[in-house]
Amino acid sequence: MKKQVYGNIHSIESFGTVDGPGIRLVIFMQGCPMRCLYCHNPDTWSFEENKKVSADEILKKYDSIKEFLKNGGITVTGGEPLVQTEFVTELFKKAKEKNIHTAIDTSGVLFNRKNTEKLDELLKYTDLVMLDIKHIRDEEHKKLTGFSNKNILDFAKYLSEKNIPTWIRHVVVPTINDNDEYYRELGKFLATLDSIKALDMLPYHNMAEPKYENLGLKYPLKDVLPTTKEQIVHARFLVFRAYKEAKKL
Ligand code: SF4
Repeated sequence: MKKQVYGNIHSIESFGTVDGPGIRLVIFMQGCPMRCLYCHNPDTWSFEENKKVSADEILKKYDSIKEFLKNGGITVTGGEPLVQTEFVTELFKKAKEKNIHTAIDTSGVLFNRKNTEKLDELLKYTDLVMLDIKHIRDEEHKKLTGFSNKNILDFAKYLSEKNIPTWIRHVVVPTINDNDEYYRELGKFLATLDSIKALDMLPYHNMAEPKYENLGLKYPLKDVLPTTKEQIVHARFLVFRAYKEAKKL
């Protein structure tokens, strides 16, 4: 008999509306190696066991509310879903047997082109990858997250080569990555990809500050104001313009 794979999750949101198309069951995995300065889920960072669940338990939960999940499906986010690739693969394999739309929201930081066997298995059952590009410049990315963006950009290229539908997500953080040059560079990079289905330019907010306090952590962006609507519109405009110019659209 095949060994049951369990997931270590942080929590489940029953009616998510911002993590993929439609209304979705959103699974927040426990554990993330990154330390993004603007992270609003620092409580998902620890790799210690939090809640152990099986794929069947999640699908049972999905079944119990499926009438309300309009045009949606299941999204696995984090934390970092690709830390628990085997569990997510089992969940998505079973979800696809029930014809449920599947999405992961990942930083892509663990991607390694030399070792894609487990990832490829997961991608067979994944309808959509939401990939967070946090900063287009490597040095700035390191300051923002503690990691290089090289693997992440390579993951975006890999998804394009494999023709996996991809949504790019980019959190606009005033004073950190809200810079016209960066937007143009991001747009040009995105133009090198062929599987992008959407671009989400997301506002930074500081609502997670109490979570940091509860965890005894210093909130790193205390002096940074939340992103305004105008800043998002401006950022989106510049990224799209650079994208269209590079694509010759
Ligand atoms: S990758 Fe996501 S969960 Fe991890 S630190 Fe960054 S924002 Fe937080």
